[in-house]
Amino acid sequence: MNINTSKELYKKAKNIIPGGVNSPVRAFNSVGGSPLFIRKAEGAYLYDEDGNKYIDLISSWGPMLLGHADPDVLKAVTETAKNSTSFGAPTRLEIEIADLITDTIKGIDKIRMVNSGTEACMSAIRIARGYTGRDKIIKFKGCYHGHGDSFLIEAGSGALTMGHPSSPGVTPGTARDTLIAEFNDLDEVEKLLKANKNKVAAIILEPIAGNMGCIPPEKGFLEGLRSLCDDHDTVLIFDEVMTGFRVAFGGAQEIYGITADMVTYGKIIGAGLPVGAYAGKKEIMDFVAPTGPVYQAGTLSGNPLAMAAGYTLLKKLHDNLSLYDELEVKSKTLEQGLKKVLDDHYISNYTNRVGSMIGIFYSNHKVTGFKGANTTNKELFRKIFHHMLERGVYLPPSPFEAFFLSNALKIQDISLIISAFEDSISSICTKN
Ligand SMILES: *Cc1c(COP(=O)(O)O)cnc(C)c1O
Repeated sequence: MNINTSKELYKKAKNIIPGGVNSPVRAFNSVGGSPLFIRKAEGAYLYDEDGNKYIDLISSWGPMLLGHADPDVLKAVTETAKNSTSFGAPTRLEIEIADLITDTIKGIDKIRMVNSGTEACMSAIRIARGYTGRDKIIKFKGCYHGHGDSFLIEAGSGALTMGHPSSPGVTPGTARDTLIAEFNDLDEVEKLLKANKNKVAAIILEPIAGNMGCIPPEKGFLEGLRSLCDDHDTVLIFDEVMTGFRVAFGGAQEIYGITADMVTYGKIIGAGLPVGAYAGKKEIMDFVAPTGPVYQAGTLSGNPLAMAAGYTLLKKLHDNLSLYDELEVKSKTLEQGLKKVLDDHYISNYTNRVGSMIGIFYSNHKVTGFKGANTTNKELFRKIFHHMLERGVYLPPSPFEAFFLSNALKIQDISLIISAFEDSISSICTKN
């Protein structure tokens, strides 16, 4: 595989952009080698600057649920752009997308658009603090809520991949207000709440952890958090930046039947344009300026191109929910195929899947939280990653990221991925 152009671009980029990338995981640091510079994508395929084609299992880290360059999304964006790219004044489009979400998702009376998942989560905890008059939050080890100061403590995703789960530059004062619990450990949460009585404004979590692999909530965990939050007057925030509109239209809230007080969105909600949102019950959302005293604003928030893209994708999903069934079949086929390859080669693995998110832990333990996730064989993953890339399959370049499938994948693509995996594993095993 020739990637000379990508290598050259990377060399240039490193001199003028930190690490050559605008977001750390893209740099391939944890898998080694040179990142690919992508020129275009269509459906389930990525094309790099050297003209190589890959089956994409990242889907832009989530947004491309229906694949790249969806014709309806492209049409909406180009048509909207003709009327200018931003006004800094309200538009009809913002009402349409807010209407669709508040109408269809339980527990959401009002929604505010922002420009990224990070912004959504930062804003959500500020509102929760303003609403409760309390300072502390509880988050879970290995969960990622963007790069806001309060969240860069035992964080997942790139922070975990790069070995900086707790980042320098976050002040001790901020860190003190973030209490940490192990995912799926309800007792730990209860202890924290008791030890910090009337001090915890919010519990924030990925209801399905997706930034340390894919870890579903154990039975009773979300229910338990819901009732602890009720008992302690603490705001329960589901960070559905990854899971929202992916595991079901109504996200994890829908599949587990638990309603949070606030929900954050990102990724799919913008169909690949920079969008995030936070939403919730009226009484909480009315604390947001200009109705309420908690300040949060954005020059480009609710940007017309972003709203047009997001609305078009969400409407398509909403009007054709059977897409989720199709994606479920493909995801299940892929999960079972990959697992069979590993089992046939006696490679210990613990494989999780919720809908179109798949996480393989190369580990002989059941993985329910950060401790378990960290036992995954990172060296084996590194080898697999490069073997798969050679065979035209682009996996997330980190042992701690889930695979995100798109419905543009055809069943032949799934078979190709599985046979590439079989070839990769066979050649890794022979070499050892
Ligand atoms: C990606 C992600 C974020 C951050 O979103 P950005 O748009 O990258 O700022 C927050 N929470 C979760 C669960 C995510 O997966």
